[in-house]
Amino acid sequence: MEIFINLNLNDMKELKFARQCTNCGDGMNDGIVINGGEEYYCTHLCLSQNYNDKQINNMDIGDDNSDSYYTEWDSDSDMEYMLIDGKLKYIGED
Ligand SMILES: [Zn+2]
Repeated sequence: MEIFINLNLNDMKELKFARQCTNCGDGMNDGIVINGGEEYYCTHLCLSQNYNDKQINNMDIGDDNSDSYYTEWDSDSDMEYMLIDGKLKYIGED
C-alpha cells in the first residue's frame, strides 16, 4: 500500500477557506452563519459549544426568514482565509 502523506501536506499549504469558525478557529467552506454573518460555525457541534438547544431552536436555522442558516462558499472571491504552514491567516477580500 502506498502512502501519499507528503503530497497531501503540500496540498494543504495552499488551502483556502471562506470563513473561520467562531468556536474552534478552523477554516470552513461550508457551515452555519449566525445573524447574517456575526458568527460562523463549521459544525453543529461547534455551534452547540456556544449555544444551548433552546437558543439553537430559536435561531430557526434553515427557515427562509431567518438570518441564521447553513451555507456553502465555493467561489474564489469568497476565500478570505488561507492555511499557511498549518495556521489560518486572513488574506482579505479580493
Ligand atoms: Zn468549528
